[in-house]
Amino acid sequence: MSEMTPVDAVIVGAGFAGMYMLHTLRGAGLNAVVLEAGDGVGGTWYWNRYPGARVDIECHDYSYSFSEDLQQEWEWTERYPAQPEILRYLDHVADRFDLRRDIRLNTRVAAAHYDETADRWTVRTERGDRYRATWCVMATGCLSSSQVPAIDGLESFAGDWHHTAHWPAGGVDFSGKRVAVIGTGSSGVQAIPIIAEQADRLTVFQRTATFAVPALNRELVPGELAGIKERYPELREHARYSGIGLALARVGETSALEVTAEERRKVLTAAWESGTLAGLLLSFNDVTTDLAANDVVADFIRDRIHETVDDPETAELLCPRDYPFGTKRACLDTGYYATYNRENVHLVDVRTNPIERIGPGGVVAGGTEHEADVIVFATGFDAMTGSLTAIDVRGRNGRTLRDKWSAGPITYLGLQSAGFPNLFLVAAPGSPSVLTNMVMSIEQQVEWIARCVGHARDRGVATVEATERAEQDWVRHVNEVSATRLYSAANSWYLGANVPGKPRVFMPYAGGLGRYRERCDAVAAADYEGFVLTAASHR
Ligand code: NAP
Repeated sequence: MSEMTPVDAVIVGAGFAGMYMLHTLRGAGLNAVVLEAGDGVGGTWYWNRYPGARVDIECHDYSYSFSEDLQQEWEWTERYPAQPEILRYLDHVADRFDLRRDIRLNTRVAAAHYDETADRWTVRTERGDRYRATWCVMATGCLSSSQVPAIDGLESFAGDWHHTAHWPAGGVDFSGKRVAVIGTGSSGVQAIPIIAEQADRLTVFQRTATFAVPALNRELVPGELAGIKERYPELREHARYSGIGLALARVGETSALEVTAEERRKVLTAAWESGTLAGLLLSFNDVTTDLAANDVVADFIRDRIHETVDDPETAELLCPRDYPFGTKRACLDTGYYATYNRENVHLVDVRTNPIERIGPGGVVAGGTEHEADVIVFATGFDAMTGSLTAIDVRGRNGRTLRDKWSAGPITYLGLQSAGFPNLFLVAAPGSPSVLTNMVMSIEQQVEWIARCVGHARDRGVATVEATERAEQDWVRHVNEVSATRLYSAANSWYLGANVPGKPRVFMPYAGGLGRYRERCDAVAAADYEGFVLTAASHR
């Protein structure tokens, strides 16, 4: 058995959340270590190197706001930076704040067990290293546990295959190749246009059509970012208390059903031309809550698809008809729909032509073999819970998180689960995370956790633990809020519907970041209401 390394806190994951958690815990005087599976920092932006990978939130929002110096000195080059630029930014953050000395790379965590007799977590890595910590923070990411569907015969495939979230660092050369892409979510929508340009022939296997709005990505013009930087105090403050954590997004004041057809068109065209995901979603005040209002926006997008795609049958296949706009994460389009006008691109609807198997020569769907030299799985993730339940997390009485969450995740504020004292979660089920600008949501949670831990240390508190009552109330509230939106009408990863056998539970908190922040602050101000704080001397 290897030696135990004693630390105040173990943080799992060195993405946006884990790195900032390290910085804040250090600031609170703790000795913390970050354990990271990858051989570099960056989390999502380390792993997702597929062609076309870029953020879908504008750079002035999708960046840390905690350091004025950092946000003033960093120069973004594009409105929606691509993966290499974001990874450079995160590498810069790691250096600038001297984080690397406490980050252990190539270190995947296998288990985290709570020792009730000592109020300590023992965190074990796959290599067998062990850390003993008072606090443990899971910054493991919402979209980290990738999914390759169980399709018969994959092992017999004679070519190469890749999942978008495990892309080879050296890239993949598609030139002269016949390529199959399975999946048309955000990753597929970004990769498909670029693969189509390189490949000899591309076959796209679509199970569910996707709503995408134009990204209108471009290089930033001189002075543009400087203008934003000057206004940062005001813009960031607005974002912090807004619903989705964005500086410039504003919710429309009227219903889509109460305006003239001309006014609707004007508003929707302006939203479309804004090149943002939030534009159409917030264009009217009832797009996310009223099916008829939502249909107004959905029809507008479907019309644009038909205008863009030459072949009417292909255009119709690309039109989402079976779920409301925004109930599955919408995508930003950089040439996605137009790609289907290329002669070398072919769309297969797997609802009518189900994938039967993969053979040595390609993908067999609806009785036809689609020849392929390379298969790309853009098939998504076991979202929000997958990276947590992949770790053998055991709390009081040896109970596993996997067991506790077997009928769906249960948390208080998305920050803790009862029975797991001193274990904090970032961007977990019950938090606004994936429905908001992730970076701003992460900052809010990380700062809250650091304050809570600092408070505990100052007061001689040994354990902080959510009560079962508080988490039941929170889960009920999360469900009540999501029931006022249209989310349950879609088979989305928000509901776990993309993973066979996963309980169908709406996971994120849909009440908005601002409201959530106020709630978390009120809980802290009320002496951490809903948590039990046990004094060290109590033992
Ligand atoms: P995803 O949204 O879950 O999309 C997976 C795709 O694969 C869906 O089209 C899904 O169809 C399909 N699929 C899954 N299993 C299949 C099977 N057995 N047969 C055929 N098709 C199958 O995953 P993602 O595209 O990786 O994106 C996940 C999330 O990551 C996004 O929603 C977004 O939040 C984030 N993301 C963001 C960006 C960005 O910032 N631009 C880029 C990439 C990802 P169904 O829809 O029918 O399940």
